[in-house]
Amino acid sequence: MDRSSRIYVAGHRGLVGSAICRRLREEGYSNLIVRERRELDLFDRPAVDAFFASEKPEYVFLAAAKVGGILANSTYPVEFLRDNLAIAINVMDAAHRHGVKKIEMLGSSCIYPTLAPQPIKEEYLLTGPLEPTNEWYAIAKIAGIKLAQAYWQQYGFRAISLMPTNLYGPGDQFDLKASHVLPALLRKAHEARVSNSPEMVVWGSGNPRREFMHVDDLADAAVFLMLHYDEPGIINVGVGTDITIRELAQLICRVTGFEGRLKFDASKPDGMPRKLLDVSRLSGLGWRARIGLEEGIADTYRWFQQQGALHSVAT
Ligand code: GDP
Repeated sequence: MDRSSRIYVAGHRGLVGSAICRRLREEGYSNLIVRERRELDLFDRPAVDAFFASEKPEYVFLAAAKVGGILANSTYPVEFLRDNLAIAINVMDAAHRHGVKKIEMLGSSCIYPTLAPQPIKEEYLLTGPLEPTNEWYAIAKIAGIKLAQAYWQQYGFRAISLMPTNLYGPGDQFDLKASHVLPALLRKAHEARVSNSPEMVVWGSGNPRREFMHVDDLADAAVFLMLHYDEPGIINVGVGTDITIRELAQLICRVTGFEGRLKFDASKPDGMPRKLLDVSRLSGLGWRARIGLEEGIADTYRWFQQQGALHSVAT
């Protein structure tokens, strides 16, 4: 991939896709191809095929996906399974048939077994039962990984798969029914402070452990791996450390200035007890994350507040 390569970023409006586009532009890649959903429906196989035939991208970042937090996953199992399968099949197949040189698929750390030893190594994939709260999404992503490996084995098509840990950052989903924990707690803490509420609700016990990575770090790794990783085996992308949900909530209170109590709602699921990726394969290639969690949360909070200000001006 060089500065003039034709690069298609699928899902350029999302948290991950938008960060990858920003990173590529910063690095001087000037030939980016993007499509709005209304211009190109990735569920429409003939349309995807026609797009690849006419645009002839050389490199593809597959960041389009139906994503969501623990509640959305169990509320919309059909969308999480069907949509993610369809996107993987349509994009990878068209990419292969129309001469794409390399494709990078973005997966997720939730593909690993619920009780996988920690930190989670790449080879733990498919060694045990999946976490029921997100198995629909996980099964679709695992099928996508296997499809990428099948193309590589059968046709020598260079399809690499990255497994990022829990991501957050500007452009995240802040709708409480759909969001992941970090943006959800950021929004709740902000609203609790503004309304002088004495407490804020945190789902579950607060004991699960999660690893959080700023999406700009992920984007940096995604470009790095497109350039330097050429193997069908999956590769984890994370920061290498985790914290409890309780500690995350406390950190978010500090950043937002909310000084009330945390109230844990035990009627909500905890999900996986722990999800920390082993990133030794990635660090062995010479890459590591740079953005600290508190700094990253503060950056995301600034973005969230700007969005709120924009919204209130617009309405
Ligand atoms: P997961 O990493 O796939 O389990 O997805 P989430 O980011 O949605 O949830 C991570 C953990 O944070 C789970 O234990 C949730 O119960 C907990 N959590 C605490 N408060 C919230 C909240 O307001 N929203 C979400 N989505 N999760 C929360």
